[in-house]
Amino acid sequence: MNNDQFGVKGKVCVITGGGGVIGTALAKGLAAAGMQLAIVDIQKSFADTVAETIAKEFGTQAIGVEANVLDKNSLQLAQKEIHEKLGNIDFLINGAGGNSPKATTKNEWITDANVSDLSGSFFGLEVDGFKKVFDLNFLGTLLPTMVFADEMIKRKAGVILNISSMNSFHPLTKIPAYSAAKSSVNNFTEWLAVHFAKMNVRVNAIAPGFFLTNQNRFLLLDEKTNELTERGHKIINGTPMGKFGEPEDLIGTTLYLLSDLSKFVTGIVIPVDGGFNAYSGV
Ligand code: NAD
Repeated sequence: MNNDQFGVKGKVCVITGGGGVIGTALAKGLAAAGMQLAIVDIQKSFADTVAETIAKEFGTQAIGVEANVLDKNSLQLAQKEIHEKLGNIDFLINGAGGNSPKATTKNEWITDANVSDLSGSFFGLEVDGFKKVFDLNFLGTLLPTMVFADEMIKRKAGVILNISSMNSFHPLTKIPAYSAAKSSVNNFTEWLAVHFAKMNVRVNAIAPGFFLTNQNRFLLLDEKTNELTERGHKIINGTPMGKFGEPEDLIGTTLYLLSDLSKFVTGIVIPVDGGFNAYSGV
């Protein structure tokens, strides 16, 4: 892919949560297209590993940078470091995000069978867990955008890509905080796209369907047997293409949204989901 067919060779892309499963896959795909990467993660060792692998594998510049997407000061320090090492920032991918068991109900429904003990329902959720998930996904998109988009606006060039989720269109059972937070990411994507439109800075999002990663493994695979849980089966049955996605499946849409191929596209959320969002189940 190094023939620069996307016109992104040498561009600098920041990926928050870049040390994670999806961040790593995207970083590799973008490096293959010739981009320079700043892998930003709260876990410096994750970020460094990804950066080292990329530099070795693709020969592009890649650096690991430690920052917390919920701490503006640490993001500003990261920005300074990226400038010193890689130069101006062209693209920002807001990838840090995720769910938590503390904001997940045990039961899908309240029924006559479980109404005597509501601890596994909405009423048993921890407000603190709810807040953490909401903050990580929403504030964790807002703050890096405030820090890294500032220079894009001044240079009148740049693209922001938010990572939303399937649950942003229709909430999934058990995960109200994550669903509401990703929904707010879609709304913010649209708002910001309008706000930035006259300054040639585009803002879009991708909504991945179901990918087996660390944050959802506990919901989709049985811990002991490694077989699909009932929920895992439901997801596969609800995905017309009949399988989980591979993180690499997100690369093409990401390249499209970052590059000039989509230069008149702003304020959209593209599902990459094997048809899940289109399927009513019947
Ligand atoms: P992951 O847990 O593998 O990676 C998340 C990364 O973010 C980790 O490396 C973690 O260290 C980092 N991180 C966590 N908190 C941070 C903070 N405060 N500051 C900086 N970095 C922080 O998750 P993933 O599956 O790769 O998910 C990446 C994105 O894709 C998330 O926004 C997630 O919500 C979204 N997503 C995932 C799926 C899926 O099926 N895995 C589906 C839809 C959307």
